[in-house]
Amino acid sequence: MSTVLLQGLTKRFGTSIAVDSVNLAIEHGEFVVLVGPSGSGKTTCLRMIAGLETVSSGSIFIGDRDVANIHAKDRDVAMVFQSYALYPHMTVAQNLGFALKLREIPRDEIKRRVKDVAKILGITEELPRKPKTLSGGQQQRVALGRAIVRDPAVFLFDEPLSNLDAKLRVAMRVELVKLHHRLGATMIYVTHDQVEAMTMADRIVVMHEGLIQQIGAPLTVYDDPENVFVAGFIGSPTMNLLPGELNRRNDHLNFRTGDLELNLLHSYDAVISGSVTLGVRPEFLSIKPNNETATLDAKVEAVEHLGSETILELSTAGPPLTAKIARNDSVQHGDNIRIGIEHSKILAFNSSSGERLRV
Ligand code: ATP
Repeated sequence: MSTVLLQGLTKRFGTSIAVDSVNLAIEHGEFVVLVGPSGSGKTTCLRMIAGLETVSSGSIFIGDRDVANIHAKDRDVAMVFQSYALYPHMTVAQNLGFALKLREIPRDEIKRRVKDVAKILGITEELPRKPKTLSGGQQQRVALGRAIVRDPAVFLFDEPLSNLDAKLRVAMRVELVKLHHRLGATMIYVTHDQVEAMTMADRIVVMHEGLIQQIGAPLTVYDDPENVFVAGFIGSPTMNLLPGELNRRNDHLNFRTGDLELNLLHSYDAVISGSVTLGVRPEFLSIKPNNETATLDAKVEAVEHLGSETILELSTAGPPLTAKIARNDSVQHGDNIRIGIEHSKILAFNSSSGERLRV
């Protein structure tokens, strides 16, 4: 079984810690995406799994084998990088078959496997061509094909779509997900793009400063972030985060941020009072307040029409807010409007630790 188990995986470069005691159990056939901002330790983690980086401490199991001290070529993993790194003097077919040739696999077998992989990736016509005559998307398919042809226990991807233009990236995203279903292989994918993570992963691992912040299915991480970092990193437009003071007043809670006051009906326990950061996703703001919402006055500073949705950038007596509403052709820049925030969708975080406060 191609499970991957990371236990206390740590990488130090001099005195700085790039990966800090990472524990992660990946199931056979799972598509796991490591996502986080630049420098969060994703690539270093992947390179340690691949055997391209030594481990400072901790262990890496692939199946039941501890591979931490096994040479990269004996780990049964295949890595696809951002740069395609194809051999320019070889044809596509030769590029695809090269790793098999090195393993002295019989010629007929190589031919058959190359043909099969080319068919899966839709590059049969390109087999006799040299890489420089291919488009970026075709080159990336060849790079993918080189990994698939080896039939590895685990696929590792390091930002493989970053060099493609936006449209092709979306198309390749879908192809990779389909490929994953078809191959049923264990895949670990690194990206800084949270949209890629959300759309492709069975489970997302959010990293920040070498530490895992949260592990979960994409929608779980989106709906139920463990801390303010995850809340702000996952989702586009980003979650509105309002640092302020929460106080109980008779039958409701009063929240103050700058000169903005909100009366919240949410049944936060009295424990959740004092300095908190409230978080609310832009889609839970509306321009039609009702008795399910807290209300506030806002001024429309910018209107972005995305087609089916409209994004409003708002100024308030406190921090600015972003609202995502259904298409609206009438709201104009400069309008003064009443905004409603759904009480039940407001999350609270400890302002100093950033940890989620739960009712
Ligand atoms: P990016 O998306 O920019 O590659 P990342 O999340 O993959 O970011 P890493 O590349 O793993 O992050 O880097 C994590 C930290 O380790 C960074 O602070 C980086 O500067 C440091 N680092 C990575 N490789 C080395 C190295 N060979 N020597 C020294 N420091 C390194």
